[in-house]
Amino acid sequence: MKKQTKLIRIQTEKSGFREHSTPLYLTSSFCFEDAEMGKDLFDNTLEGNIYSRFSNPTVQEFVDKVCMLEDCEDGIATATGMAAVFAAFGGLLQSGDHIVSSKALFGSAHQIITQILPKWGITHTYLNADATEQEWESAIQPATKMIYLETPSNPGLELVDMEMIGRLAKKHELIYCVDNCFATPVIQNPVEYGANLIIHSATKFMDGQGRVLGGVICGTKEMIEPLRFFCRQTGPSMSAFNAWILTKSLETLTLRMEKHCSNALKVAEALEKIEGVNSVKYPFLKSHPQYDLAVKQMSSGGALVTFDLEGGFERVVRFTKLLTIPSLTSNLGDSRTTLTNPNTTTHAKVPADLKKELGITEGLMRLSVGLEDPDDLIEDFIQAIQNSK
Ligand SMILES: *Cc1c(COP(=O)(O)O)cnc(C)c1O
Repeated sequence: MKKQTKLIRIQTEKSGFREHSTPLYLTSSFCFEDAEMGKDLFDNTLEGNIYSRFSNPTVQEFVDKVCMLEDCEDGIATATGMAAVFAAFGGLLQSGDHIVSSKALFGSAHQIITQILPKWGITHTYLNADATEQEWESAIQPATKMIYLETPSNPGLELVDMEMIGRLAKKHELIYCVDNCFATPVIQNPVEYGANLIIHSATKFMDGQGRVLGGVICGTKEMIEPLRFFCRQTGPSMSAFNAWILTKSLETLTLRMEKHCSNALKVAEALEKIEGVNSVKYPFLKSHPQYDLAVKQMSSGGALVTFDLEGGFERVVRFTKLLTIPSLTSNLGDSRTTLTNPNTTTHAKVPADLKKELGITEGLMRLSVGLEDPDDLIEDFIQAIQNSK
């Protein structure tokens, strides 16, 4: 069966009520039929649900779908995307270990790597997303345990060559971890390039309507086993309610992504033609410096577009007041188009020199193109840019 069919048809086993839609198992714990069953469940001679911090059928349905989409053997859901990122580090690394990472990262991932992990003696080396294979390789030290990256990155939409990193990770026997949130499994599957750990913030396109927070990590059984232990003991579990929302949402992920991507390409092309826009970045625009890599590893350009508005933050304030459709909010991956100014919001805490390297200017706008009619969006951008001069 094709992935789309499985995505629709994977479902928790029916209960005695013969329900058609998937049930929401909103329960903290599960009963033992007798004391022996409790003992067997706890000593792993019997597999089954015990307590929703460890596992829950609704959460498992969501995990099963993501594992299927990412071609992964096993996975674990977390309360947020950041809990997934932190679990990947916390569950697999120890004092003295070193991470080689792309520096084009989500703001909070940057904070974990630079502010939190050093407290436990875990160090890192940052590289530009487009660094050469030699540069990536020379950053690898004897203590290096993991290569971590995001592609496309938030907010710069920089790409990392996943095939090249796969070669290095294999050669040096490293954990190869990709935050695949921006592309979603519909657009790229990092496993194809040898990634053994894939992270998603399910809050974004997997939900797709800006309702619940969630995260998921999937990978090989070998990678997930220590993470399952870490999550079971430390408790960043996904709520069954959120999993229920997310598993229903996944049924339409492919359809939504196709529309998100075609709308985003239209909006990006239109923005390139508007006076007052210094530059536009979108992986599937020929003007993207890594366009060739984008078409090689992505099946479409995604929903995120960035553009640099002439006139700095004051222009940003005037421009956003004039927009009538997009929502000004830091979330992305919503059916509704959302817009932020990363310099003053999501990436405000990133040091100024790093911001400069990442292209986070005062006038940079990060646009998550939604499912509205693209012509309406384009018309709205044109009027707001022209009238905010
Ligand atoms: C939003 C985001 C995260 C964090 O996810 P939360 O669900 O907000 O915790 C991590 N990585 C990327 C690329 C993101 O866009």
